[in-house]
Amino acid sequence: MQHNTKESIFKRPRRRSKGYVIAYSLVVTLFIATAINLTVSYLVDTPKISKIKQENLRLESQYQILNEKIASAELLLSDIAHRDKHVYRPLLGIDTLNIPNVYAEYNDSKYADFKGDIYADIIEHSWRRLDHLTRSIYYSSRALDDTQDMAENKEEFSTVIPAIWPIDRTKLRSVSSLYGMRKHPKYGVWRKHEGVDLSAPKGTAVYATGNAVVSFSGWKPGYGYLIELNHGFGYKTRYGHLSKRHVSRGDSVTRGQVIGDVGNTGVSLGSHLHYEVRYRGNTVNPIYYFNKDMSPESYLELMEQLETTDKAN
Ligand SMILES: [Zn+2]
Repeated sequence: MQHNTKESIFKRPRRRSKGYVIAYSLVVTLFIATAINLTVSYLVDTPKISKIKQENLRLESQYQILNEKIASAELLLSDIAHRDKHVYRPLLGIDTLNIPNVYAEYNDSKYADFKGDIYADIIEHSWRRLDHLTRSIYYSSRALDDTQDMAENKEEFSTVIPAIWPIDRTKLRSVSSLYGMRKHPKYGVWRKHEGVDLSAPKGTAVYATGNAVVSFSGWKPGYGYLIELNHGFGYKTRYGHLSKRHVSRGDSVTRGQVIGDVGNTGVSLGSHLHYEVRYRGNTVNPIYYFNKDMSPESYLELMEQLETTDKAN
């Protein structure tokens, strides 16, 4: 009996309710479906994912285009900077503009927000390039302002700088004395001659050699009647031994204007104009300021003439 009882316990078929079977099948089906779904979605994008991926690709290519545009702007700016440095500035004789730290990189904290982003590298790189570009634009715009100022002054400079003969060359008898060391014609001692002596008949018109303001008009020992012009930019000219003065201190004169007449006043041995060019307080050789376009031939001619007159003295 006991045996039978045991048998009945083990061999009795398991009786499951219909509901249990349905629930069990559902769980299994769901499990399989989820597994398939996960596998498929891992291997194949859902429409949403694929849209995001496409969007990312589009953004990346736009970044690429942006970087190319930055590159062409950089190229354009470097061309402008080159012309500023190697063409305009040497032409105007001005130094390269110096703005301290203009190209110093920004602190890394400025770009900290991009950290952690999967596109951090390209975004940060582009930002840095744009920042550098902004600084370059700032520098170039300042440099351009600077160059423009100088160019405007240069125009003024070209009108004020002593650049013509102070007398009509057809009236010139000779260049009786050069700039530099010479034996003084009257005192017989060696001393520096601070200008050039242009022999011409008394009364010959004396011209202002550049636009200027009269800074002196009167008697000065040695010079006799003297006119001094202040041209600005560090330049002054002196016209000595005059017989007459036609301008007064403070008058504005223009290049070629008659300011006085050749004479023989002061320490002078004959009717001539003593002409001086001074730059920042020191005399310079006026020969270099007679004519911007003086040819080598006329320069040599002048030197020969001076040599003959020097021997005569
Ligand atoms: Zn002299």
